[in-house]
Amino acid sequence: RQGVVVITGASSGLGLAAAKALAETGKWHVVMACRDFLKASKAAKAAGMADGSYTVMHLDLASLDSVRQFVDAFRRAEMPLDVLVCNAAIYRPTARTPTFTADGHEMSVGVNHLGHFLLARLLMEDLQKSDYPSRRMVIVGSITGNSNTLAGNVPPKASLGDLRGLAGGLSGASGSAMIDGDESFDGAKAYKDSKVCNMLTMQEFHRRYHEETGITFSSLYPGCIATTGLFREHIPLFRTLFPPFQKFITKGFVSEAESGKRLAQVVAEPSLTKSGVYWSWNKDSASFENQLSQEASDPEKARKVWELSEKLVGLA
Ligand code: NDP
Repeated sequence: RQGVVVITGASSGLGLAAAKALAETGKWHVVMACRDFLKASKAAKAAGMADGSYTVMHLDLASLDSVRQFVDAFRRAEMPLDVLVCNAAIYRPTARTPTFTADGHEMSVGVNHLGHFLLARLLMEDLQKSDYPSRRMVIVGSITGNSNTLAGNVPPKASLGDLRGLAGGLSGASGSAMIDGDESFDGAKAYKDSKVCNMLTMQEFHRRYHEETGITFSSLYPGCIATTGLFREHIPLFRTLFPPFQKFITKGFVSEAESGKRLAQVVAEPSLTKSGVYWSWNKDSASFENQLSQEASDPEKARKVWELSEKLVGLA
């Protein structure tokens, strides 16, 4: 049978490109889990995805109620779940004041990490029920969360500190909106911190569930896709200069189509079944197992992030 893959944030950029790449093979039915139903439907059509190769379903990761409603709606649709891809993200690089999710958590960590954490935890039940030969959970990471790389060392650097802000609920009002508890808000750092949480979560899933379930848990850095909507909130000069800078200076630039193929590999390639891996690609577009920074691979921190996140999303 066809595999069924749920991709969050499949209405643009990497998620859309991966949805298209997978649907085109004819081997996958793609559930596009998106906050803007109309935008996602139009994007699928404009990308040339065949009718019947995908289903758009509503999911707003900025609301934990919406996450639970998505899970209910997905179950009512009576499709199996073979692969889950946590891809959606927001990036507010110039923000100096926080915004908040429906549940009162700072938006970048709320959407990129907490919404996905609840989604992934709830959908584990469905993944476990699937009879598909290679079941996977993929959480999209980022090099910006890797302080062991050049790009990961561009300030402000990711650092979760002792997690006191996360423990306080990232509510801003009664404490800090930053994970490390810093009183001043920095949108660029909040994004990087959220990506470290994504990578830690993937590894904690691997430690807790891989042996028992056989499910593959992985993360990836798809390359710098300098043209996606992720940079929509950046200053105009940055948006003009960033793509050529990545193309000609750092040479880290990757097209949306190529990045989509990379994510599709992590979903479907028989050679990428190893669990607990953070995948990257070299200049010839060959995949390799990359090293994570010390913080992004700290098992103690992963456990703490897991436990604090459980409380914030109402699982503990
Ligand atoms: P885009 O902005 O193009 O795509 C982000 C997607 O997330 C959109 O579909 C967006 O929906 C969705 N989204 C945002 N907020 C929510 C929400 N509250 N609920 C549901 N969906 C939401 O960015 P990219 O394609 O570049 O980013 C995709 C992933 O790739 C992210 O995880 C990012 O961190 C990662 N990444 C990107 C890199 C890059 O260079 N671009 C590099 C490394 C990693 P909508 O269309 O409605 O806005």
